[in-house]
This record gives sequence, C-alpha cells and structure tokens, in this order.
Amino acid sequence: MNIEQQLKELRAELREHNHKYYVLDNATISDYEFDIKLKTLQDLEEKHPEFYDENSPTLRVGGAITKNFNTVVHAHRMYSLDNSYSLEDLRDWETRIKKLVDGDIEYVCELKYDGASISLTYENGTLLRAVTRGDGVQGDDVTANIKTIKSVPLKLNGSYPPKFDIRGEIVLPLQGFNKMNEARLANGEEAYRNPRNTASGSLKLQDSTEVAKRPLECLLYNLKGTNLGIDSQFEGLELARKMGFKVPKAAQLAKSIDAVFEFVNYWDHARHELPYETDGVVIKVNSLYQQEELGFTSKAPRWAMAYKFKAEQVSTKLNTISYQVGRTGAITPVANLEPVELAGTTVKRASLHNADQIEKLDIRINDEVYVEKGGEIIPKIIAVDLARRPLDSVKTQYITSCPICETTLVRIPGEAKHYCPNYNGCPPQIVGRIQHYISRKAMDIEGLGGETVALLVNAGLVSNYADLYTLTKTQLMPLERMAEKSAENLVTGVEASKKIPFDRVLFALGIRFVGETVAKKLAKHYKRIDALMRASKEDLEQVDEIGVKIAESVIDFFSSPDNVKIIERLQQYGVQLEISAQKLANQTNKLQGQIFVVSGVFQKVSRNELKKLIEDNGGKVASSISGKTSFVVAGDNMGPSKKEKADKLGVTLLSENDFLKLIE
Ligand code: AMP
Ligand code: ZN
Repeated sequence: MNIEQQLKELRAELREHNHKYYVLDNATISDYEFDIKLKTLQDLEEKHPEFYDENSPTLRVGGAITKNFNTVVHAHRMYSLDNSYSLEDLRDWETRIKKLVDGDIEYVCELKYDGASISLTYENGTLLRAVTRGDGVQGDDVTANIKTIKSVPLKLNGSYPPKFDIRGEIVLPLQGFNKMNEARLANGEEAYRNPRNTASGSLKLQDSTEVAKRPLECLLYNLKGTNLGIDSQFEGLELARKMGFKVPKAAQLAKSIDAVFEFVNYWDHARHELPYETDGVVIKVNSLYQQEELGFTSKAPRWAMAYKFKAEQVSTKLNTISYQVGRTGAITPVANLEPVELAGTTVKRASLHNADQIEKLDIRINDEVYVEKGGEIIPKIIAVDLARRPLDSVKTQYITSCPICETTLVRIPGEAKHYCPNYNGCPPQIVGRIQHYISRKAMDIEGLGGETVALLVNAGLVSNYADLYTLTKTQLMPLERMAEKSAENLVTGVEASKKIPFDRVLFALGIRFVGETVAKKLAKHYKRIDALMRASKEDLEQVDEIGVKIAESVIDFFSSPDNVKIIERLQQYGVQLEISAQKLANQTNKLQGQIFVVSGVFQKVSRNELKKLIEDNGGKVASSISGKTSFVVAGDNMGPSKKEKADKLGVTLLSENDFLKLIE
C-alpha cells in the first residue's frame, strides 16, 4: 500500500472511531488504541506534508491561532425564537398559525439546548466554515475553533447535498464543566459561573489548542439549503444523523398541542438527568411546506415556538424601588434587591413592570421577595413572603410625578404604564429619542453612540434629532473625550444618514407603536411624509394592519407643532421624507383591488420577491384562499388542500409566467 493510500485509510478509520465515540456514545476501541493510531497518523503526516488534509482527525487538537475573527454574512438569517410559558400560550400560537395554513399541523418537539448557536457550512461533504450567530445577519468566522470539537464531523458519511448550512448549539456538558472548574480551583483560579457562558466564550478564544482542551459538544437541529431532498423538519433531523451529526434522540413528532404538552411535562422532570443544561423545549411545525407558508416576523419564525420551563426561584430582600423614564416617557418601576445568585448569575435588580403589578402583589420595601428568571433578561418578582414581612412595613405609594423633571404623571385609560407628558423638556426622553433615532435599525449613524448623545444634550448642543444636522466640528471639539477624528466621524455619520430610505426615517422618528414593520407599511402606503401627516384617523385605519392604537398615536405625534417643525427642518436638511423616485418608478396600480394568494415554489423569482411584486403593483397578498381571493399564483408543489379549495371556490390559478405577464 502506498503512503497516500495508507494516510487515507488511517484518517477514515480514526474518523469512524471519533463518530462512534463522540456522536453515537458507543466506542469500539479503547482510548489507548485510539491514541496509538492517532500518533501513527501524526508521524506519517509529519513525514509527508505533501498529503496534507485540512480535515484530518489530527487537527482536532487545535494549533491555529485567530487574532481577528472575520465577519461573515449568513446565507440564511439566524432568527431568534418567540417564547411561551404555558399551555394557554401554546394553544394561542396554534390558533394563530392554523389561520395561516391549510390542513392539519404536525409538530416536532426538541429540547432547547442552552449554549451558543452556530451555523456550519458544508460543501461537497467537508466542513467549509463555522460562523457564530452574531446579530443574526452576520457573525464571526470561528472555523478553526469549531474544528477541534470532536462531535462536529469534518467529513460527512453516506450521501449528502452538495452544499448546505446546518444550525446547532455548542454546549458544555455539566460533567466536563465541573471537571474544568475543579482544575481551575486547584490552580488557584476562579471557577467559571455557568456552562452556557463558558461555551460561548470558548468560541472566541484566539488559541484553538485551548478550545480543543474543553469538552465542548455540538448538537444539531436544523438544515438549511435548497434541494435537500427533505419535506419535513423530522426528516431533516434523520438526514443530519445519517450524515454523521450529533442530533439528540429526544426529538419527537407530536400530532397535537396536547401531545406537545406531554413532551413538555415529561422533560420538565427528565431534564435534570440530562448530561447538559436545557431551559425549555422548541416546538416546530414539521412540514417544510407549511413552514414556508408561515414565514417569519422581523424577529422569529412563525412556525416555531420556544416553551420555557419554570425557572429556578430564590428569595431575597427588596431594598428600594427606583423609577426609570423611557424614551416615550413611559415609567418603569425597578426593584433594587439584596444581590443573590440565581441560575449562575448575580441578580441585583428586577422589573416591577407597572403600578398594577406592585398593587397586585402588594410589594413593599424591606419585603422578602421571590425572584424568578423568565424569558426576559431582567428577572421578575413573582411573590412576596408575607410571613417574613416586617411589622413596621408600609404600603408602596406609586410616584405621581416624574422622578427626573417632576412633571405630574398621566395614565391613559386602558394602559398599564404611567407616562411623563413633558415630551420636550424631560431629559431622559430627549436623550432616549435621539438615541433611538441614531440606532442601527433606524438612521444607523456611525460615529455617534448613546453616551455621546447624552453628552451633546447635557452640553446644550442638541435638544432634538433635527439639531444633529447642525453640528459642526468646532462645536464638538471642546467636548470631553472628543478628538478631531471622532468629531469628524460624527459629522460625516450624520451627513450619511441623509441617504437612509423613508421607511427607516419614519421608524427613527420614534412615534409610539410605530415599529419597523408598521413604518414600512405606512411608508409604502403614503409614500410621502406630507400625505401621512394629512391622513385622518379613519384613513389610517384603512391601511393594512394599522389599528386604532397606532392610528391615534400617529395623529397625536403630528398634531404637535414642535414635531411638525422638526420634520420641516429634517426636510430642509435633506433627510429622505418620501419614497425614492426609483422605488416609485417600480410601482404601478395594475393590480389595484386584487387579492392574491401565493402557493408553492417558483423558478424565476422567490416567494418573497413575488409577494413584493404583487404589493408594488398595488395588489394585496393574503395567506389563505377565501371567497375574496382574486387569483392564486401557483408554483410547483402547491399544497393539495389549497388546490382543492381554489377549485371549489372557482378562483383562477395563475402560473408564474401568467403572473409575470400580468404586470409586464
Ligand atoms: P432565543 O435566543 O431565546 O431567541 O432562542 C433562540 C435560540 O435558541 C437559537 O438561536 C438557538 O441557538 C437556540 N436553540 C437551542 N435549541 C434549539 C432547537 N432545538 N431549535 C432551535 N433553536 C434552538
Ligand atoms: Zn419627566
């Protein structure tokens, strides 16, 4: 046998043993035998560098150093998940999605692994790249570190799609975590606090040899790509397993929400026996076809839902209550607690939400309270230990005036929160509004951060976002920590924001209840700010998805002469207050009054492009077929129940080409 052949076989053999040991938990040779074989391979590779293989099992021990992690844009965005906490929440979710898809819905229940998410890209059966979630749109390339995790296959088994991404979670099993900590303590080092943070910190270590030493595991749960040859999430899991990935066996099919709940109840107890931590269950619609129909909100897939187990609770003393003022003037009471350990972090503060919440639980200063970590980052108080209440305790009086500007607070009937109405004079509102204006999803002003905004406001240089456009280098230079370069960057950043499209400007204005999605809808419908400013409440409510609450808030915003003046100034400075001419040119009224349902997969355009084309040409897109539907644009693979329904109601089916001709 020649050397190349020998290397190849040895690598394949070791790969196989790795798979048995780390993925299947079923070793067939001793560690000693494995080490001997690995050593043999290492020696051979050293003697024959001409046969280098970047995916050799010997590279599992690390060696590569990454100084700066490259940023990589995800081919498919990595979303977050919506959370639920009860059977009720799950039933509500089912009701919502049943309105959007045809036919019965089957679910896959998986455990929610608590670690760091990762996206792996494979090409022709080998690991090409591993990228962290980052902000969901782009993450860091951590390939060198991930290659040291032995349950991540560097080469795949059997037959596999030529190119795909697979998503998973890097976790640190409890046993390994405890071992690491014992070693650290023995060395006089501080123990790590919890497996999750340690796992995610590991991904960004510069020295991959260090990563190799940590007993990390990679658990996979989602395949992404085209032509994967699967029709459901469950088939995806099975395919991933066949290719050699570690896919936990817990995953199960469920035919109803009740079956989902059985799964949840079982694992709420059984999770304590698992080798790694889990904080909940993820429930996914099984059919990929239905998943596509359901799509995504701006944050999370509509076809998946996380169920969070009841978190651990601790009790501690409530020292004081402070009140925060948000950018919209909303007041949030915050409990300042005697610091206490909860699920691996130190808790010092908890949200009290609003006056009703304090009233309902009768929370008082000096009470012993139970704190719980729910879905939110900041924990909440769930009960008071009345038996331990001091005798001299006094009932909490909610504040009646703003803690910052002392204006009398108002409470709009039907709303939970109190507001400080001093819109133009209350400092945290002024700062908060400008911070929102410059934020990444709004005007994305580079060179200007949240703290600088506070500095600018305090120095009296700006008191609203229009003022930003008047700032000069000479004004900025005397400010604390402001060098010439940073002053220049700030001015350039502000200038560049004049190119930000109208819908984002509308979001940036910070009108209450006008989030990203609503801003898009309004921009599209009204096209120019003057038209929006003139719109009546009734008119606004006619717009898709705009309800009374939003309509009233928009009217309220533009009825303020101060706001109108600010908008006029923005207009003068050249901020985009209408849809660009080019965008307008792509829009027609050809499909005015027509309601379309899109179904199936298309050749020339993606489903989303198709929906956009419909809307750009004045049509509406609905999610299910009804008597009102004008046309169904049918691609390949259209759902049989949709077809039946269309036939029954006599709705015309259009092919992709028919449709494109229609708008030509
Ligand atoms: P969250 O960060 O709370 O919005 O939850 C979303 C994250 O849950 C994803 O980014 C994944 O990292 C993680 N996750 C853990 N287990 C699963 C699973 N079985 N399916 C999907 N996501 C999961
Ligand atoms: Zn105030």
